[in-house]
Amino acid sequence: MKPVKIKKVQREELNFWEKTYLVPIFQGMSVTAKHFVANLTGSIDKVNVDYPEEQKVMPKGYRGKHRLTQRDDGTVKCVACMMCATVCPANCIHIEAEEHENPEIEKRPKIFDIDLLRCVYCGYCVEACPCDAIRMDSGIYTIFAPKREDFVIHKDQLLQIKPQSEFAADARPKQGMPALPGHSAGTSSPQIFSPPARAENRDTEPMKQDSSLAPSKD
Ligand code: SF4
Ligand code: SF4
Repeated sequence: MKPVKIKKVQREELNFWEKTYLVPIFQGMSVTAKHFVANLTGSIDKVNVDYPEEQKVMPKGYRGKHRLTQRDDGTVKCVACMMCATVCPANCIHIEAEEHENPEIEKRPKIFDIDLLRCVYCGYCVEACPCDAIRMDSGIYTIFAPKREDFVIHKDQLLQIKPQSEFAADARPKQGMPALPGHSAGTSSPQIFSPPARAENRDTEPMKQDSSLAPSKD
């Protein structure tokens, strides 16, 4: 075995005052006292907020709680294509589709749930959506609930969430959504449709996600 060469490093001897550590202690305390007085008198800009009375405005691009967008007539824009649920790496989106009353829009979500405890806030669902129906521009970063099941948010809750005003102008452009019959884009009055005749002979059983893909709850 090759002999190991050991190099001895001489440690610097501390003098009496250095051994007491009094000087650095008082230096640290003076910095703390300076910040304490400055915060107390408001002579410097605050870096913290008085939460929950004061809410922090999240920076542009922050991925907050999801929301579902609406058409001009207030109905859900989602066409239940399952792209978001398919791309979701956490498998936390559950959608069941149903027939849409508008013959030009094939489907809409009957159930649209997101399990926020599983979500990793990657934003893939937003990127995958072909019709800008799901966004994460709410700026909401406080997500709390007393029970685990309360973290599963449903379609109606997702539709009620508004964008953080800062982001409204920067939201992704509307894309791929056909104008409703008899209405040009931007019309806000509701449109009532009769159920299409073809729906009578169609199997309207709601679509279900493949439960075999769901991760084990163990
Ligand atoms: S942000 Fe990511 S993990 Fe969360 S629902 Fe969307 S795709 Fe799934
Ligand atoms: S949110 Fe978008 S991607 Fe997801 S099902 Fe609806 S239309 Fe498809």
